[in-house]
This record gives sequence, structure tokens and C-alpha cells, in this order.
Amino acid sequence: MSYSVKFTLNHEQDTQRFAQVLSQHVHAGIIYLIGDLGAGKTTFTRYFLQNLGHQGSVKSPTYTLVEPYNINGRDIFHFDLYRLDDPYELELMGIRDYLETPDALFLFEWPSKGGEEIPKADVVIDIQKSEDELTRFVTLTVDSQALSQTLQEQLHGA
Ligand code: ADP
Ligand code: MG
Repeated sequence: MSYSVKFTLNHEQDTQRFAQVLSQHVHAGIIYLIGDLGAGKTTFTRYFLQNLGHQGSVKSPTYTLVEPYNINGRDIFHFDLYRLDDPYELELMGIRDYLETPDALFLFEWPSKGGEEIPKADVVIDIQKSEDELTRFVTLTVDSQALSQTLQEQLHGA
């Protein structure tokens, strides 16, 4: 079963708060970030990593495919598959080794480009821009009802 929570982000500060809330509950596993260019996937990731304790910049891994972090002893891999032509390139870059990292957290922008090479998501964040591009509509999907209820409460009004 999957459970969805829907909310809107009217300012970048709302995205910051959303990242802060999620970083308190999700510490390992697979997060998918879905949405058009400019939706805010990298911006979310930047705040999320900062909330976990990362100091310093968060670069968009559009050209490198992956940017690794070690934050307070935990391995986190931020993938951006936008430029991937063929999922098989992930095999060649050694994605299996990344995926075997114990207790690691993975964030995937453009997961649809990864085909069967990337695992199923534990958390899906879908960000859609409004037509005037000022508002973001988020659908957050998790597989735990308890977590969805907690997030619903904490994100209410976010
Ligand atoms: P993506 O990774 O989805 O292509 P980015 O995070 O790189 O998108 O870019 C999002 C852009 O939109 C940034 O310039 C950011 O400042 C801007 N922006 C405006 N409002 C928001 C919001 N509510 N959440 C995230 N980004 C926002
Ligand atoms: Mg991006």
C-alpha cells in the first residue's frame, strides 16, 4: 500500500520547511524526485542535506550523474539522471557498488531515466509547478500509513 500527502509550496521557505520535516523521518532508503526542470528537485535536496548537517555547497550532479556525501557518518548519494541516454550506463558507472552501501540514503532526480537499474522508491516526491510558476504542488507518497499521518500533521499548512 502507498499513502499520499498533498500540499503546496508557495515560497522557497516552504520547500526549506518541507525538507526539514522530511529529514527528521527519512534517513536511509530511496527517494525519487519527480518534476520538470526548475520544479525544485535540487533545491529540495540542498535543504534536505543541510538539515541532515551538511555544510558547504550542494552541486547539481547533472553532468556527473552522482554526487556523494558523508554526513555525520551516513552515506548519501544524490543522483540526477536527466542526461542519461541508456539505463545501462548506470551499470558501467558502478551503480551496484553505490547501492550496496549499508544504511545509505539515495536521492534520484529523473528516476524514470534509470529504468530497471534503480531500486523502487521508499518515498516519492512529485513537484509540479503552477502555470504562473509561482506555486509548487507536491504529492508525497510513502508506504507507511503511520509516517504519512505524521507527515500530514507536520506539513499541514506548509
Ligand atoms: P530542478 O532540480 O527541479 O530542475 P532547481 O531546484 O534546480 O530545479 O530549481 C528550482 C528553481 O526555482 C530555483 O531557482 C529556486 O530558487 C526556484 N524556486 C522558486 N520557488 C521555489 C519553491 N517553492 N521551491 C523550490 N524552488 C523554488
Ligand atoms: Mg535538478
